[in-house]
Amino acid sequence: MTNRQILEDIKQKLSSAGIEEASNDAWLLFEGITGMNRTDYLLRAGEEFDFPFPERLRNAAERRCAHEPLQYILGKAYFMGFEFEVNPSVLIPRYDTEVLAEEAARYADADSEVLDMCTGSGCIAISVALLTKARRVIGADISGRALTVAERNRKRLNAENVGFVKSDMFGAISGTFDMILSNPPYIKSEDIEGLMSEVRDCEPRLALDGHEDGLFFYRILAKEGFGHLKPGGHIMMEIGFGQAREVSALLEMYDYADIRVIKDLAGLDRVVCGRRI
Ligand code: GLN
Repeated sequence: MTNRQILEDIKQKLSSAGIEEASNDAWLLFEGITGMNRTDYLLRAGEEFDFPFPERLRNAAERRCAHEPLQYILGKAYFMGFEFEVNPSVLIPRYDTEVLAEEAARYADADSEVLDMCTGSGCIAISVALLTKARRVIGADISGRALTVAERNRKRLNAENVGFVKSDMFGAISGTFDMILSNPPYIKSEDIEGLMSEVRDCEPRLALDGHEDGLFFYRILAKEGFGHLKPGGHIMMEIGFGQAREVSALLEMYDYADIRVIKDLAGLDRVVCGRRI
């Protein structure tokens, strides 16, 4: 079979399996596994497919047909222009979360000490550390497996100013910070069943479930975060759909100042910020 026939065949299989972006995903699998880029492909589309491990591409296509996310199959995801290793122990970094990292990078500088709570793959902690050269960035997570991935990401991206701590929220965190960042689990438990299979069946429940009303972790962040902020320090949290009002109210309740909401590119409320005066 030619390269074109192989690619068409994968497209067909993905499409029959109900994968929405079958064409795009087929290409990304083909490129990711064979290492052929667009130009190579265009030049060699009619040539016989001679990749040494054809079963790898077949397996990858089968996994995608079973609705496993592309990023877990290829083992990587992009965030703020950096490549992160991912596996099913960590949430796949989302484009929307870049709003939080960008806002953090606007306020942090080389003197800053930053805490990223619920760090997962470490994507926020590492990106902010690399972009701002912050003095110290701590990524905390309850999951030891997630921290193993985060530490590998730290090494491969050479983020020497980052350290990771295993901690159930603030349990093992001491000291104060100029900035507390978090993209915590925020989906209401009862809404998890209704999520698309890629998310519901493949991503870690621990990284999604915000308990009964979805706000469980924001309460802890608002309440305990205050004591871990230096005067003038910022708290910035990603939120889910419709949570801006309630999360802002939590910050008000604990006496934060300058409370504001930032929208994502789709125009949806995405990040809630406040300051300890
Ligand atoms: N901080 C990580 C991210 O934004 C993980 C978040 C999580 O596990 N809830 O991708």
